[in-house]
Amino acid sequence: MTAMLPDYAEFEQAMGLDWYAMDPNLSFLLDHYVPDPADRAFAEDHVGRFGPLVGEVIAPRAEETDRKGPTLRRYDRWGYDIGEIVHNTTWTDSKADLVRNGFVSLETYAGRPSPAVVTASLNYLVSQAETAILCGLGMTAGAADIIERHVEPAVGDDMVRRLRSIDPTDAWEGGMFLTERQGGSDVGANTTKAVQDGDEWRVFGDKHFCSNVDADVFVILARPDGAPAGSRGLGTFIVPRHLPDGSPNGFSIKRLKSKLGTIGVPTGEVTLDGARAWLAGSGAPPAVQAVQAIDPARDGRGINRMMEMVNGSRFGVAIMGLGIHRRSFFEAAIYAARRSQFGNRIDAYPLVRETLVDLLVDLEAGMSATYECAAAERTASDAEAGRLVRRILVPLAKMRCTRMAVGAASTALEVFGGNGYMADWPMARQLRDAQCHTIWEGTENILCIDVRRAMRGEQAHLALFTRMEQALDASVGHKVLSTTIDTVASALADARSAATYLESAPDDMALLHSRRFAELLADASEGALLVEQAAWALERDGDARKAAVARRFASRHLATPPVRGITDPDRMVLDLFEPLIRYGAIEESDLAA
Ligand SMILES: Cc1cc2nc3c(=O)[nH]c(=O)nc-3n(C[C@H](O)[C@H](O)[C@H](O)COP(=O)(O)OP(=O)(O)OC[C@H]3O[C@@H](n4cnc5c(N)ncnc54)[C@H](O)[C@@H]3O)c2cc1C
Repeated sequence: MTAMLPDYAEFEQAMGLDWYAMDPNLSFLLDHYVPDPADRAFAEDHVGRFGPLVGEVIAPRAEETDRKGPTLRRYDRWGYDIGEIVHNTTWTDSKADLVRNGFVSLETYAGRPSPAVVTASLNYLVSQAETAILCGLGMTAGAADIIERHVEPAVGDDMVRRLRSIDPTDAWEGGMFLTERQGGSDVGANTTKAVQDGDEWRVFGDKHFCSNVDADVFVILARPDGAPAGSRGLGTFIVPRHLPDGSPNGFSIKRLKSKLGTIGVPTGEVTLDGARAWLAGSGAPPAVQAVQAIDPARDGRGINRMMEMVNGSRFGVAIMGLGIHRRSFFEAAIYAARRSQFGNRIDAYPLVRETLVDLLVDLEAGMSATYECAAAERTASDAEAGRLVRRILVPLAKMRCTRMAVGAASTALEVFGGNGYMADWPMARQLRDAQCHTIWEGTENILCIDVRRAMRGEQAHLALFTRMEQALDASVGHKVLSTTIDTVASALADARSAATYLESAPDDMALLHSRRFAELLADASEGALLVEQAAWALERDGDARKAAVARRFASRHLATPPVRGITDPDRMVLDLFEPLIRYGAIEESDLAA
């Protein structure tokens, strides 16, 4: 068990601190989700290493990058279209530091596999500084995975090596282009064409939102000639930005978009005019493809290869939401401890206490669902159950954590009063950046529809229900949790009834309720996972802090208190404020009522 953090009034701001040392809940989650001692020591080494790197180095640079974002130098002085992006050095220095420290490939850095929870924790730390940089480097890791799995080694091996390099002078970056002018949700309407050219392809078309546009290799959707309309006719292709001689690969950046936030990462509009491309799915040797009569360009599964990358990115975007949420809490806790009004620190006032506690409770809830996605294959009853839990929990976590982050950033900004709205304080950028994440990699509606697809196609909700029951069953016997367990169990029963109704509901009604259902699933899952963590903390440390968090979450999100809770005598937010927000131990007896 770690000691309670110092009074936040001792700190001027979040920047300059070790963000791992200041976040005992992160080490708690590593303890909980990384039980193997060798893996836990590995986690400590590397997540610990990133705490000061991010808080002291990456975060201050991110503020500078936001003030002067990238620009497009489209033509050289001879008039050739070079599409050069000119970056602030704060951006390039931070990327180089992250690459060098194994952020894109901890495996390359450490020479051993990294548990998914550890990689997620690095992403969580970096997101607190700058989600834009995670956008670019996260897609780099995703592109390496897709190329490794689906492209023949003769073409893909060198790309993968460079995408996973920890030498910034040799390392490549990746991007993904799905969206076209006519639609991002409806990628089945894509018109970019791929024409076969021997073992290679040529790609023609316009892509309308291309982030990390000056990366070195892109995973894109295009329709092979002869393939049917709709999403099943799409193929996933790998397109390097340059040809081996350094000239552009039929690749031209029309312009950079002027964005509300995530300023550091350049998002452009791109024309592909005969760009050389390789098909993802061509990984099986041609002889095997010939014998099995596989046509990887038109096998109807091209979109699935892209969706593997999209699902990885959705998980990354959920973590971006968590990062902004954590930064919002952290900055607000420090500011509220340092600011006085009416003769008192503002964090002495009940309304401010409640604001800070609820920022933290919702953050820990979001972390429970997101970390479960990373750990599901171990925590579920078997690998297939884990896959199904992850299948449905990733869109739920992305929906939940990105939406919560917008609210968290807005709430924290207001804790700063008028200063919060000013560009020289940290919250205005966080609020601008947060708004992007509900849209990237699928809007909230599209995620609700994806949850529905996971239910109808794979019955993934049943695996999630089983996991929730397992979490609740493991927690019975702790008196301090009994009310919370009852509340979560009742939400789980509601979720089961809702799923049964939705199976036979008219299609339009099922779609109408799909967001409500996704919210219910997210709430119930977070409640169950918090309860499980609370039981674990009680057993290991005799500490009821997580039980307090679970109780507060359940009473706010899962229960319907009479008189809107106004007559509820619970004083937890006032009396346990310090140990809650400074991560101190709480006695069970303090929570007994
Ligand atoms: C900063 C930024 C960077 C981006 N970078 C990239 C990138 O690198 N690569 C890339 O491919 N894309 C990128 N995108 C595009 C992003 O993925 C799309 O904007 C997003 O998927 C939504 O697509 P759209 O903009 O076409 O909106 P639309 O699809 O037109 O959606 C508009 C609205 O309609 C709703 N809607 C659509 N269909 C349905 C339905 N069936 N039921 C209910 N509601 C529906 C949506 O939820 C949304 O609210 C980026 C976007 C932003 C903002």
